[in-house]
Amino acid sequence: MSEFGIPPYVDGRTGDKNLSKVVNRALLLDLLRARSGASRASLAKESGLTKVTVSSQVAELIALGIVKETGAGASDLGRKPVMLEIDGAAGYALGVSIATDRLHAVTMDAAGATVRDEDCPLPDASPESVVGAIASVVRAAKKKYRQSRFGLFGVGIAVPGAVERETGRVVRSAKLDWSDVPLKKAVARHFDGILRVGNDATLATIAERELYAPGADDFVCLLIDEGIGSGAYINGAIHYGHNGQFGEVGHMTIVHGGPRCPCGNEGCWDLYGSELALRQALGAARSGPVPDAAEAIALAGARPAWAEGSFRDFVDYLTTGVVSVVNSMAPTTLAINSAILAASPAMFEALKAAVADRAMSHVSACELRLSSLGKAAPAVGACMAAAERFFEGLVLRGGD
Ligand SMILES: [Zn+2]
Repeated sequence: MSEFGIPPYVDGRTGDKNLSKVVNRALLLDLLRARSGASRASLAKESGLTKVTVSSQVAELIALGIVKETGAGASDLGRKPVMLEIDGAAGYALGVSIATDRLHAVTMDAAGATVRDEDCPLPDASPESVVGAIASVVRAAKKKYRQSRFGLFGVGIAVPGAVERETGRVVRSAKLDWSDVPLKKAVARHFDGILRVGNDATLATIAERELYAPGADDFVCLLIDEGIGSGAYINGAIHYGHNGQFGEVGHMTIVHGGPRCPCGNEGCWDLYGSELALRQALGAARSGPVPDAAEAIALAGARPAWAEGSFRDFVDYLTTGVVSVVNSMAPTTLAINSAILAASPAMFEALKAAVADRAMSHVSACELRLSSLGKAAPAVGACMAAAERFFEGLVLRGGD
């Protein structure tokens, strides 16, 4: 929630005699999660609740084991207030993002700090291998955190493809070559806690926006790796689209009559502006092997003369698509998640200048910036999705 108010998940409980208690708890937990430390008095001031209400709610949250006191804070006069914060060690969320050759796993504590970030190689990208690898990461995390109050309370999974929100079924992933895979159901056999499955670009967008642009109502994030995906907040809410299929900007046609894309269309942006397309162009430019992702990043930093044309084309093709995204979505902020652009500030500046030049003048005020999270973004977003559900659960307990 960006605004502190009645959260959507308590809607429909308006006849409930405990509603005010639930709303109060939601307010206080949100404030505590957004601040690094707060006193009872500052919580009362910011929430508008009475000190008595704050004290009794805080006592419950401490008894529940999710909030802890951290000693005295600063005060101009009189007794120093006791500070409160979310107890990070109370529990953990695991976020896993799936690529064709590996899983990227991030573990976050209850206070939202990343405590572990690792890559786990996959033997292949079949659903069986991926579910097996996720099960083994989950098993290890459950064991590691079994002593904590809530243990491993949730798992989020970021999928490079369309995911049906209600069921966690992967409708289609061109990258993994999956169709109709009941991923959530399969992982649920190995984990009985909170389980969220979503599109990787959507989850990356949630992470990017919540951490670095919490007030941005119209926010778009582009995830550029082997393909190009996007996520968007529209009027302050993340947008999913039918069957979770929002954001396939990589399949906009940018070259009429261009080569056939795996999606069935021709001349898609993916085939020109993705990092895979750039790597293939670099291979052709040196009449040699296609560089892997790490080498392409190194080349972007070094910019050898033979690669110059490929990088220039890459920026041009990116500009073409980004201009269309800016013109059609009119975001106030567009965050671009690309390891290649992150490695070359000059290339990113060239892209910014070209977009400012070519986007329609009334939308060109859009702030274009690089992702602050990089390749961890989808897994961080997956952790946050699981944590969100966990905190909703704690809030609703307040109505008991
Ligand atoms: Zn396509």
